Amino acid sequence: MVKTRIAPSPTGYPHVGTAYIGIFSYVWARKNGGKFIVRIEDTDRNRYVEGAEEGILRALKWLGLDYDEGPDVGGLNGPYRQSERLELYRRYAQELLDKGLAYRAFETPEELAAIREELQKKGLGYGYDGRARNIPREEAEARAAAGEPHVIRLKTPQTGTTVVHDELRGNIEFDNREIPDVVLLKSDGFPTYHLAVVVDDHLMEVSDVVRGEDWLVSTPTQKLLYEAFGWDEPKWYHLPLLRAPGGAKLSKRTGHTSLDYYREAGYLPEALVNYLSTMGFSMPDGREIFSLEEMIEAFDWGRVSLGGPVFDEEKLRWMSGKYIREVLSLEEVCERLKPFLESAGVSWESDEYLCKVARVMRPRFETLAEFVEKTRYFFSDDYPLEPKAEKELRKGIEILRDLKEVLARLPEFTPEQTEPAIKDFAENKELKLRKVMQPLRAAITGSLATPGMYDLLEVLGKERTLARIERALAQTGKREDSA
Ligand code: GLU
Repeated sequence: MVKTRIAPSPTGYPHVGTAYIGIFSYVWARKNGGKFIVRIEDTDRNRYVEGAEEGILRALKWLGLDYDEGPDVGGLNGPYRQSERLELYRRYAQELLDKGLAYRAFETPEELAAIREELQKKGLGYGYDGRARNIPREEAEARAAAGEPHVIRLKTPQTGTTVVHDELRGNIEFDNREIPDVVLLKSDGFPTYHLAVVVDDHLMEVSDVVRGEDWLVSTPTQKLLYEAFGWDEPKWYHLPLLRAPGGAKLSKRTGHTSLDYYREAGYLPEALVNYLSTMGFSMPDGREIFSLEEMIEAFDWGRVSLGGPVFDEEKLRWMSGKYIREVLSLEEVCERLKPFLESAGVSWESDEYLCKVARVMRPRFETLAEFVEKTRYFFSDDYPLEPKAEKELRKGIEILRDLKEVLARLPEFTPEQTEPAIKDFAENKELKLRKVMQPLRAAITGSLATPGMYDLLEVLGKERTLARIERALAQTGKREDSA
């Protein structure tokens, strides 16, 4: 069975990179009728951030990447939080000690720093020279039993090569002299990433490890660990890292990397998943808009390219707009808008009204938060008058006064009635339509950027429109007086 996982560390906000790797892991598992699991790698207590795990799980749910096993859903191979598995790692470190494939090392931090410096002078970049290998076993055990602080290190081969087979990149050869004797168990009894990841991937029966290429350097060490335990290694797939436009690695400095940011900005999760799916993957027919289901259907590692994919928020914004206009139904869009309006303190008179506004605004917003920003005047009479709109209002105040009489005579504000009425009015006065529209627009919305006038009038309705014109006339009169 194909079993994949993501193994995020709870060290901060949920990262787009986690979602990106998560999508490919998820798709590969589903494609094979396998399982996708989430494991929380929280053994680095210095980097641990309270609440980060919840944030990651919430983000995965928001994106619709449902997992079969995980810290909050359980599963047969739990617990799924490494901090709850410490006993296991100790046991497996002991196993390697017993097999003579690991050893205890007692250097103090100062001694280690000196060793590192010495190695660096010789142009050797790998941290530790393996000197504690020479401590006789009995002596090491006695010192450990006496409570001397120490770590357990992996005894790596000192000659030859280790060949990692990456499913996407083929064989990659590593010189064993460059594979350090990494620490497996720290002096506080916590495992390092290498030990924990291998023990867990094995015990959780992970068959396919999909992760970012920044982990490729760790793979030979992990492969050696699999060998030391006598376990089959998983298949490895190292995906290219996301880049920012311009080519730098995507980071806080080059773009937004928090999934919370994208959720709060009102990007549609389907659009974000779709966009991240195009990071290196393309559909056989080249179409850009596709669902997770469709990706699963068409997925093949041969369709994944390794050139650094560029994550461009502008492109995502476009895609989110596409989902709003073309993929989701209008009713669905209205439902998605509600929590955004609520949290902005905007209330709407009825769902029907909200949907009318959404219908006319649909071509004009790409995120749910943008809708809220752009539609205040639909939901409240208390909207600001933008400076440009105010200018137009002043210029056209006389026109507006006359236009109001015409509009007041219309029985209904359907486009069938308002359009000919406004056009006739402009013609009779020998005015360009724009001259008529601008002051009207300014009066009833406070802005000049609005949906088409006849749609606008229909949604706002006769009563509200006339009241707003009335108010604008009165206020502009006042402003003129005091000017
Ligand atoms: N805990 C690692 C991370 O934060 C997991 C790396 C791996 O997938 O092996 O991404």
